[in-house]
Amino acid sequence: MENQKNLLFLLATLFMTVVLQAQKSDFNRQDSLRGTINEERSWWDVLHYDITVKPDFNKKTTKGKNIITYKVVEDSHGDYMQIDLQEPLHIDSIVTDDAKKLRFSREGNAWHVQNKISAGKKEGKITVYFNGTPREAVRAPWDGGWSFSKDSLDRPLMTVTCQGLGASIWYPNKDHQSDEPDNGATLTMIVPNELTGVANGRLKEKREHNDGTTSYTWEVKSPINNYNLIPYIGHYVNFKETYAGLKGDLDLDYWVLDYNLKRAKSYLPNEVHNMLDSFEYWFGPYPFYEDGFKLVDVDHTGMEHQSAVAYGNHYKPGYRGRDGSGTGIGLLWDFIVIHESGHEWFGNNITTKDLADMYIHEGFTNYSETLFIESMYGADAANDYNWGIRRGIRNDRPIIPEYGVNAQGSGDMYTKGSNMIHTIRHSINNDQLFRNILTGLNRVFYHQTVTSNQVHDYISKKAGFDYSAVFHQYLKTTQIPEIVLFADAKNNRMYFKYDNCEEGFNLPLSLVGKHTHLKIFPTTEWQSVEVSNDQYVLFSAPRIEKMYYLTPKVLNSLKE
Ligand SMILES: [Zn+2]
Repeated sequence: MENQKNLLFLLATLFMTVVLQAQKSDFNRQDSLRGTINEERSWWDVLHYDITVKPDFNKKTTKGKNIITYKVVEDSHGDYMQIDLQEPLHIDSIVTDDAKKLRFSREGNAWHVQNKISAGKKEGKITVYFNGTPREAVRAPWDGGWSFSKDSLDRPLMTVTCQGLGASIWYPNKDHQSDEPDNGATLTMIVPNELTGVANGRLKEKREHNDGTTSYTWEVKSPINNYNLIPYIGHYVNFKETYAGLKGDLDLDYWVLDYNLKRAKSYLPNEVHNMLDSFEYWFGPYPFYEDGFKLVDVDHTGMEHQSAVAYGNHYKPGYRGRDGSGTGIGLLWDFIVIHESGHEWFGNNITTKDLADMYIHEGFTNYSETLFIESMYGADAANDYNWGIRRGIRNDRPIIPEYGVNAQGSGDMYTKGSNMIHTIRHSINNDQLFRNILTGLNRVFYHQTVTSNQVHDYISKKAGFDYSAVFHQYLKTTQIPEIVLFADAKNNRMYFKYDNCEEGFNLPLSLVGKHTHLKIFPTTEWQSVEVSNDQYVLFSAPRIEKMYYLTPKVLNSLKE
């Protein structure tokens, strides 16, 4: 048996090597230009974006500009800076703050801009003018771009979705997750008078022009992910309220299509207050009090656009009336309000530098659903939900793919990521500490971009146990470890070990009953522990599975 297994392992390794090499060669120069901080990107750090856009609904074209303010962060550097703007959009001209026109050349979606700056210059500004027919969203928000849609009354409704695809699908910028504009951004939309423009942060200015258009300028003060800066243009109306939160009064704003106003007023505030009660408890203060919190009506399902969350859940509990967990618990609350707002902490407050680490956004936010359920309906409901969503895990490929090429891992980053966090939480078996870890992450990495290793190291340090082998197992392999158990009733001993896992997998198991508990430290070698009669139940397979994403395997003899 053992030899056969070794042979299989060898074959599997060979197969994986071939697959990985095939994958590697699938990435091209464009992927590297987009996904790597190369020498044309590393010397400057974005301080601010000031975007103006004028979409033409009938022609499905846009034109505009982005004034990019940057800080020089490397003393010696070349004369080029890379600006990203995706085809088929086009850059017309680029002008510096001292009115100098810059030369540039296009290499696909990357633009090499010759910007020789004088030695000792600490800060600079360029204005990039663009126009053209942008890519249209195919299936927003997953396959994004500009949406030139119509609302239920057949009137224009426009927005953008671009996570993964990249903000350079609609405006010129440094399109890499590691560089957020440190001092925030402003977004001006020039629209026909009958339409209203909404964006992130707060409305700074509304100006009517004499050509039948109005410009709306919104300003966000906090650093923001490029893909979260989003225009919303339609027949919007608004209502406001405040939430008494951990950092004082938080302004809540709801921008909804005029015909939705009544049902929005009776439905949304309750969901939002429940969400904030739960998430401020588990994660700490909402991270963007300065910019307020908003929900904005859209015709796609929703997106976590910072301080202007896109809402398209039809004012119904569940995920447009469905429950991904199959338990019924997912039908008790509004999936989009909860999930997309959860990203304000994981995704928007804490952002990953590389798209490969996207599970930090999606896994933790998926787990925010479980925590929300715990706040509202208790721990049993939360555990059932987390167990229920496990049916969606495919284990098709690793959650963390290759770095540096703008690659995205398996969709398992949601439910499997969440189940891994659930697993580690029960291993720690101290909810006060677990909560301190979650609030600590949001405090220590406040408004920062991080690597998953920074997050993992923080969790291990606070938990007092090195979970790196556990993170590796769930994030970089597709094997789900077995916990192999044998009860030796005659001698009052329980035998246990891990199988179907990497050599160093060492997840400690806290097994907790009503009146008794045990903590064991299984490895891939057999170990045993003395158990009393009432402790056998701690090893029951369904019980272990609810708390841990493991496959229990109970043997009748040690020889199996
Ligand atoms: Zn999400």
